[in-house]
Amino acid sequence: MSLAKQISGPECSTTPLLALHGSQALEPGASLGDPVEAISPSSKVQLQRGVSRAARLYALRQVMLRSAVPQEVFNSWRVEVDGNATVVTLGRDARILFRHAPATFWRNLIDGSYEVVRAEWPYPPSNPCAALVPDFVVPFADRAYTGPLFVRTSGDTWECPIDLLASMLLTLSRFEELQSDKRDMHGRFLAAQSVALKHNFLHRPIVDEYGLALQQVIQSLLPCWSPPERRLRVKLSHDIDETGFPRSISNSLGHTFKRRKPFATVRDLLGPALGLRPSLLEAVFRITSLSKRHGMASALYWKDSPKSAWDSGYDLSMKPLHEVVDRLKNEGVELGVHPSYYTFNDPHRLGDEVKHIGEVIGETRVGGRQHFLRWHPRTWHDWEKCGLGYDSTVGFSDHIGFRAGTCVPYRPWSLELDREIELLEIPLLAMDVTLTYYMRLAPEDSVALLLQCADRCKIVGGVFTLLWHNRSLLDPHYGRAYQSVLSALEYSCAFDWKQALSSGQC
Ligand SMILES: [Zn+2]
Repeated sequence: MSLAKQISGPECSTTPLLALHGSQALEPGASLGDPVEAISPSSKVQLQRGVSRAARLYALRQVMLRSAVPQEVFNSWRVEVDGNATVVTLGRDARILFRHAPATFWRNLIDGSYEVVRAEWPYPPSNPCAALVPDFVVPFADRAYTGPLFVRTSGDTWECPIDLLASMLLTLSRFEELQSDKRDMHGRFLAAQSVALKHNFLHRPIVDEYGLALQQVIQSLLPCWSPPERRLRVKLSHDIDETGFPRSISNSLGHTFKRRKPFATVRDLLGPALGLRPSLLEAVFRITSLSKRHGMASALYWKDSPKSAWDSGYDLSMKPLHEVVDRLKNEGVELGVHPSYYTFNDPHRLGDEVKHIGEVIGETRVGGRQHFLRWHPRTWHDWEKCGLGYDSTVGFSDHIGFRAGTCVPYRPWSLELDREIELLEIPLLAMDVTLTYYMRLAPEDSVALLLQCADRCKIVGGVFTLLWHNRSLLDPHYGRAYQSVLSALEYSCAFDWKQALSSGQC
């Protein structure tokens, strides 16, 4: 029986390796150059009075989606929000109550005082959930608590004793990044500063896991409901930081001396005479072919910016690149934008680059990722103004994992604007440079960690989003590591971001 048919309630009342990253070789031991002027995009949000009713409804919809309740079914339930709780009424009598934090919590939160709770399952789970989700981690909780995440208080009533909706909202909207001024030399908020790494839960999609607990509760209230099977989806993405244009002898020699690929050097040196594409550009075709061979698809994010200390600088409209773009587009490869280093915090420069790239690739609404993962919650505003379809920057540069506590693409909530952003966020979970340069993992350890991450995505039905640069394919060890990951994940479903946006299931 469908969930909708069980509901007869009233109408809804509410609404060691490589410089894989960038052209300027951030290789171990290499100089980082002159420090970039510190960027401290602090914008402490005013939450002394708590969050709005609209924000709570947003968080409620997010947890319902993660419990596999279809949007149209959720819309048929009655939701009431008052000062003390958000109450969902399913049918005539069944209720789920989400308690709200007291007013004092919000003042304490602004001062950095909150609890990180580890709650229990409502019912004992079966494997693999029991192994991968031993408990539910709730940061930014209003009080210390050790019981189940949802408690049955009477026959048809369940209650969440802590302010789960507020915690979800703060995690998804990246509250802590709005509050903190700490950034690295590239203006990035690091995993090392995050509550997730400090409390050892960055490796878990905690927000998505709440949906597993809520699903148990809904099933107890609606025993005939059979939630759909949760499937892993995979998004392979590639930031094209370098194309081999403009040609550079030192870069070509690097294929031999840094990446042990002498044929790549020969190809580059003979390329102009023989009409061969540079090795880095040829790797773009290899990376998309690899995806197809394993039954998956690649998304290529292109730049179009002048050379800088942090950008290789290529002109996407130059003939050899334009031809490559046209060929890839004809092959059905997804093409998107990779705005350059200095577009961060510069909406005008961002708009210009997005416009130019869009003209070359012939698309008006595309997705992409900020170069160097330079990102702040306000970057969502800038991307929305550009009319972009999705962002996939929200992942840490220094550690793989679930920066926003989720691997389920979602429309972000802006705490500053107190509204949903017209954009999809497809959280980035892992980047090659993070594994090789920041975490210094051996290839085989990188593969193991990536597959563990994918397992966690699978049990919540999320999207495993991976960034692998074209340059990293030229390294024999990590090139093989990437192919091992593709072999393990082959024929996984793709994530259709256009369909997700149009269906409203996000
Ligand atoms: Zn980049």
